[in-house]
Amino acid sequence: MKAKIISTLIGDENEFSFRHRLFNVIALVGICMSFSASIINYILGLGVVTVVLTIGCGVISIVLYLFSIIGKKYELPALITVLMLSFILFPALWIINGGSYGSIPYYMIINAGIIAILLDGFKRGIVFVFFAVLAATLIAIEYQAPNFVVGYGSQLTRCLDSSFGFFVCLVSNAVFFAVFVDSYFKERQRSDQYFSKLEEQKKEIEAKNKILEKNNAELKKSKEKVEGLNKLLYEEKQKLEKLSITDVLTGTYNKMYITARLEDEIEISQENKGKLAVALIDIDNFKMINDTYGHLYGDYVLKRVGESINNNLRQNDIAGRFGGEEFLIVLPDTSLKDAYSIVERIRGKIWELKWRNNLKVTISGGVTELGSNNLTELLREVDRLLYKAKFNGKNQIEKKYV
Ligand code: GH3
Ligand code: MG
Ligand code: MG
Repeated sequence: MKAKIISTLIGDENEFSFRHRLFNVIALVGICMSFSASIINYILGLGVVTVVLTIGCGVISIVLYLFSIIGKKYELPALITVLMLSFILFPALWIINGGSYGSIPYYMIINAGIIAILLDGFKRGIVFVFFAVLAATLIAIEYQAPNFVVGYGSQLTRCLDSSFGFFVCLVSNAVFFAVFVDSYFKERQRSDQYFSKLEEQKKEIEAKNKILEKNNAELKKSKEKVEGLNKLLYEEKQKLEKLSITDVLTGTYNKMYITARLEDEIEISQENKGKLAVALIDIDNFKMINDTYGHLYGDYVLKRVGESINNNLRQNDIAGRFGGEEFLIVLPDTSLKDAYSIVERIRGKIWELKWRNNLKVTISGGVTELGSNNLTELLREVDRLLYKAKFNGKNQIEKKYV
């Protein structure tokens, strides 16, 4: 209840700044002081001017207070208050109310406090200096011309007025200090709470950051692992792909792949009107090798013949195992003449290979080129040429221009 009344009268802490609330207190004190002073002045018979002046001051204080509370602005009313107190009320009351012998000098201190609290920067300095100069001037004038100041009717009136002034200044100072200290500690408490909350939040963020960093490191590790696995997978895939088109024993391509490639090369060559040569070679008397040296040795012969074919082909030529001991060689962009010399060279290289018991492994072959013939006709033609080479005594290559 008490807090509610105070916050209604001087403004809520959350809505009004510290200085603004202090101005409201000063305005309220000013209102009370003005009206009580006018009553006291009237009772003490200090003259109608003192009564009217204090009432006027009270009315102005009410207006400024309402402006501050409703308009929510205190700078202008504060400046008006300070100017009114310092340069109108103070000198006027000094002159008509006993000068330095009356109650007015007490207000010097309280007014200095109000200037210090309500004004800031340059304004504060200027007003303070002018006020001090004014007070000094008043004292000097009073010293030089004591009659310039209107005195009291009696010693009792002077004492009563002085006591009243002293009492009011004391109470006012106490109120200002109480509000000041109270507000200061409350604001301090609020900022402490705010900072400790900030500190807590900072700690929370740091903890979360740590977790994030840990997660990041784990993610990085997992990513590296996945990348490693991916690489492995890719290599395995490459291997598998290669395996799926390779004849494992001879290292040449398998029948399915070499046939598909031949089909492709026929198409390309027909589109580009380019050359294409094809050869079919067969190991001579292979059955005899198998029968004499065993199937395993036969496999060994097949392997080495396959390697020899691969090693003696050009970059774009390809060879594949077409049957048991038959190899099909596709030579893109190659004339029959060049293809013949390549296959002849392969025959020579295989002839030069050394085997057990001075065995001689030879091959026969047929080479032809692509004309208007299709895949089947082409294969039939090389097969016919191979047969011809066998028929003519083996270990030779037959060729036919189209
Ligand atoms: P020609 O000179 O007329 O070609 O006679 P050849 O004995 O070479 O031909 P033939 O067709 O009579 O015999 C081929 C043999 O090749 C028969 C088969 O058992 C053997 N053969 C087929 N595939 C393999 C294989 O993978 N490994 C082994 N070791 N022998 C194979
Ligand atoms: Mg054979
Ligand atoms: Mg054969």
